[in-house]
Amino acid sequence: MNDCIFCKIISQEIPSEIVYEDENTLAFLDINPINLGHTLVIPKQHHENIFDVPEEILNNTMKVLQKVARSVDEISDGINVGQNNRPAAGQIVNHIHFHVIPRFEKDGLRSWPGKKYGEAEIKETLGKIRKNLE
Ligand code: AMP
Ligand code: ZN
Repeated sequence: MNDCIFCKIISQEIPSEIVYEDENTLAFLDINPINLGHTLVIPKQHHENIFDVPEEILNNTMKVLQKVARSVDEISDGINVGQNNRPAAGQIVNHIHFHVIPRFEKDGLRSWPGKKYGEAEIKETLGKIRKNLE
């Protein structure tokens, strides 16, 4: 946790461009924006990902996420909210964070590719996920 780059941003050991801050949550500009205004929203308490963050902390973060999303939406045509978990999903910083990405008509970014389910796959996949929710 000590060498967590986002914890260092929270403690101001590392500079950032702060968009919004309250007791529990920080929002700051992503240093490598997908589009200008790309903002990260993070809880001040260190948790790695969506799996380990306590519900109350997540709820606080969601409130700020919605505020920031509305604000960024004012300067764009739409927004994506993104959140990566584990390296396979593109998570690089192991402090849970939500990306608020401004989008513009014809900004050239591609949306996600869509696969098709094979015959048995839809029921099989549904069964596996539902079982884990029991
Ligand atoms: P992820 O791939 O979801 O872990 O995203 C990590 C994000 O953190 C990337 O979009 C980086 O550009 C961003 N990032 C890394 N270091 C900094 C920093 N010092 N200040 C602002 N954003 C950062
Ligand atoms: Zn951290």
